[in-house]
Amino acid sequence: MSFLDFAPAPESTSVLNLRTSYGLFINGEFVDGHGEPITTISPATEKPIAEIAHANAQDVSLAVAAARKSHDTVWGRMSGTDRGKYLFRIARLIQERAREFAVAETLDNGKPIRETRDVDIPLVAAWFFHYAGWADKLEWAGVGPNPTSLGVAGQIIPWNFPLMMLAWKVAPALAAGNTVVLKPAETTPLTALLFAEVCQQAGLPAGVVNIVPGLGEVAGAALVEHPGINKIAFTGSTGVGRHIARTLAGTDVALTLELGGKGANIVFDDAPIDEAIEGVVRGIFFNQGHVCCAGSRLLVQENIHDEVVEKLTRRMSTLRLGDPLDKNTDIGAINSREQLERITSLVSQGEAEGGVRWSLDCEVPQKGFWFRPTVFTGVTTSNTVARDEIFGPVLSVLTFRTAEEAILKANNTPYGLSAGIWTNTASRMLQVADELRAGVIWANTFNQFDPASPFGGYKESGFGREGGRPGLAAYLTTEGAR
Ligand code: NAP
Ligand code: MG
Repeated sequence: MSFLDFAPAPESTSVLNLRTSYGLFINGEFVDGHGEPITTISPATEKPIAEIAHANAQDVSLAVAAARKSHDTVWGRMSGTDRGKYLFRIARLIQERAREFAVAETLDNGKPIRETRDVDIPLVAAWFFHYAGWADKLEWAGVGPNPTSLGVAGQIIPWNFPLMMLAWKVAPALAAGNTVVLKPAETTPLTALLFAEVCQQAGLPAGVVNIVPGLGEVAGAALVEHPGINKIAFTGSTGVGRHIARTLAGTDVALTLELGGKGANIVFDDAPIDEAIEGVVRGIFFNQGHVCCAGSRLLVQENIHDEVVEKLTRRMSTLRLGDPLDKNTDIGAINSREQLERITSLVSQGEAEGGVRWSLDCEVPQKGFWFRPTVFTGVTTSNTVARDEIFGPVLSVLTFRTAEEAILKANNTPYGLSAGIWTNTASRMLQVADELRAGVIWANTFNQFDPASPFGGYKESGFGREGGRPGLAAYLTTEGAR
């Protein structure tokens, strides 16, 4: 089955029809915020898209109160069958508005339209369909008898997959009977607000979903510190995740953290090489490398190093960088000037430490934030680019001689989110997979997602799983709703 099955419904006709300004979405309505509104821009052109209201602590309190009321009086008491109907309706509406969502996401984030159209938005719909089906089957969630919702969930998401991260969090929370207050990332609030419109269209009861765009240190921090919250689900950087865990230590607030990564793509000399090259390219250049589970380290068996690097750069030479709204574009814009500066600085450090840099030779648009696909060879495990999460289109190549050495090097990172293994020897595939400390391991493929398949990390990549049954269980308790 392909997730394209979840792509636009045949009757889809909608086009982008944005408002010039968007409020916060609290208790089923768009309202003004008490924070200073900001203009969200397209990172590909630096042109304004819309003015977005910003929440402060007072707005967050209003949103939590609305979510509490709707949980205690409506949503938490509704039958799972009825909750499921709302979720199915939301999934269908996302399909119907899929083109609009894809264009809006590409504008606000800078990622290629081919990705938002064929990956992000279809997966968003798939996530809602998946959890719609769970809403009346909570006794199978594996948490024990008579599971109930936790209550009000505070959800904080990053800018790299704005609507997809929303779906990963909102769909299971709602299926399990929780209500939510969600803070999108500062640079990518747009599709979360279009999603609020979908909630209205679906007739979702007021207060079940509340969206509070705002600054991390203001709206995000207020959500984490709010005494009316029963659960915090956070996806973002390890630094902020650590801060949130410290803030919540000793409270009864449930917490899941999805943090950074430095995934290894391990290529053995008996791998299907051409497929491996495709997988390595997709693993690091998909979404400009703004992917927590990116395969940002290529571990290649020493005897095929030169062949692989040669094929890799040849394949990279065919990548097209430019207008994200052009369906031929492979590499879109970097999401923000701040992120571009971070990538640029880490790459300079990698060069200063002796790494050999190769970057795609291509034109870069005058306006906007861009970084050319880059690969580092001649690096050791101590080089910054082989160690730190760059969160950009930058790959570091390391070598190994034996499977044992590959395992040691792959695990030699504080992170533990993803890995890919490329070999035609099944026994080796299984043995290496068994030894890797990574939450998701792909076998002769990379970056495949499925709502039924749990996703999450080890070590500094966080804890808890999103997706499938564990993702549902993370929003349930057997101790009675709080
Ligand atoms: P970030 O700075 O941690 O931001 C993530 C979210 O947290 C944003 O909404 C941000 O708001 C908010 N935030 C910032 N400071 C906060 C605070 N003190 N209290 C509460 N919320 C706060 O991360 P990012 O730079 O946007 O995203 C990149 C990172 O996310 C990378 O490290 C990546 O690996 C990780 N990531 C992990 C996964 C996963 O599933 N494991 C998925 C995607 C991304 P602002 O937008 O206002 O800063
Ligand atoms: Mg933006």
